[in-house]
Amino acid sequence: MTDKVRVRFAPSPTGSLHIGGARTALFNLLFARHSGGTFILRIEDTDTERSTEESVAQIIRSMKWLGLDWDEGPDKGGDYGPYFQSQRLELYRKEAERLLKEGKAYYCYCTPEELAARREAMMKAGKAPRYEGLCRNLTEEDRKRYEAEGRKPVIRLKVPQEGQTVVEDIIRGTVVFENSVLDDFIIMKSNGMPTYNFACVVDDHAMGITHVIRAEEHLSNTPKQILVYKALGYELPKFAHVPMILAPDRSKLSKRHGATSVEEFRDQGYLPQAIINYLTLLGWSPPDGEEIMSMEKAIKEFTLERVNKTAAIYDVKKLTWLNSHYLRELDLDYITEQVIPFMVKKGIITQEDAEQNYEYIKRVVAVSRDRSKTLDELADAIAFFFKDVEEYEEKGVKKHFCKENAAELLLKGAEALEKLEEFTHESTEHAFRSLTDAMGVKAAELIHPTRLAITGRTVGPGLFDIIVLLGKEKTVSRMRKAAEWIKNNEKI
Ligand code: GLU
Repeated sequence: MTDKVRVRFAPSPTGSLHIGGARTALFNLLFARHSGGTFILRIEDTDTERSTEESVAQIIRSMKWLGLDWDEGPDKGGDYGPYFQSQRLELYRKEAERLLKEGKAYYCYCTPEELAARREAMMKAGKAPRYEGLCRNLTEEDRKRYEAEGRKPVIRLKVPQEGQTVVEDIIRGTVVFENSVLDDFIIMKSNGMPTYNFACVVDDHAMGITHVIRAEEHLSNTPKQILVYKALGYELPKFAHVPMILAPDRSKLSKRHGATSVEEFRDQGYLPQAIINYLTLLGWSPPDGEEIMSMEKAIKEFTLERVNKTAAIYDVKKLTWLNSHYLRELDLDYITEQVIPFMVKKGIITQEDAEQNYEYIKRVVAVSRDRSKTLDELADAIAFFFKDVEEYEEKGVKKHFCKENAAELLLKGAEALEKLEEFTHESTEHAFRSLTDAMGVKAAELIHPTRLAITGRTVGPGLFDIIVLLGKEKTVSRMRKAAEWIKNNEKI
């Protein structure tokens, strides 16, 4: 084994990449980059019934989108491939046979029905159900008889029935497991597929993994894996089990707590930078307690020693807060490019408009982006620049359109703007202020209904920024249309 750090993220492709998995991948990546090591992606697809190609594609897509770039793995290759367990079956078979030969593993012919019946009997007798090693000492004759009956054997590891297996975990410290609670677990299934605890060890060794960084839910598998390491004569890697992510009520995070998969967040308009920042702080914190953390900064400061032992609490509000931060701070062209697909999807613009009016969209985004929390919200918030106002916000109507002079002010304001030759922030603001001064009313009495008339909303960017961007023609016609609307609605 080399001294150089080699870590892996090893998802089972049985669903989409969730924030828990993304966080595990991220911690592996941060650790690898911090130590100048290698980050490997290995697909654990030996569960043929539950693994799907679509999940593989989705996991890969999500990781790329988040910027979790692996050095070795699918799409990349590497010296330790293949990186799909389904393509490494020969290796598991070979290692299992070695254990059989060395008397460290054995064939077991018990059928699932027999095992279930025995489990039930044990439970009835008040014992913890476990495999009692019935096939440990079969003779050649027994085996032949079972084979003749057509039974397909599994291979089980001989687990010591006494003593302890100790996990030295970088995050959790020393965790001791009594071997008596373990049984001779299956390493190869009757269909010739390895079990997770076996394939994982064979691969972690074959791929030269130095640190196994994974979710805490696997801690109970680690003593079994250590027994496999020992039986195979492999050197142990270092283990680090990262804490669980719980919902705010401390229950297991699930669908009912809202979006949990990376693609759902993407579709809701979250930025990868915000998600990465958020996940970085989910169970880890930098020495200076800083909340805004780019991946580069996290790489510099990340150590496993600073990972918390206690569960991290998932808080979508913090993620959303970070998202608004990145929406405001990242490069304007980048944010513009990100919001365009949302606008196209909502039918606000076409892809062609996006290409032709890119500079205009960018100016709109520039004045609007600091008020939205997600790209989705931003797309909605700027829709009025591209589409006519169909509806006026109800509370705005009550507040600003129901005033006696609202329609008159809108018409006069439209007239004043129409006359302007130069249509700038200064000239439009000046026109409004002169008009309200001359009429002896407050500027706000014109500004508020105008905002509602031209945007349909009561809040948004500075009014004169909007007016200038929208242009004279649209502004004036929307003000007149609103005045008309007020008159019609007065009659009703
Ligand atoms: N395939 C396992 C999972 O997705 C990997 C666990 C590990 O990292 O060892 O949970």
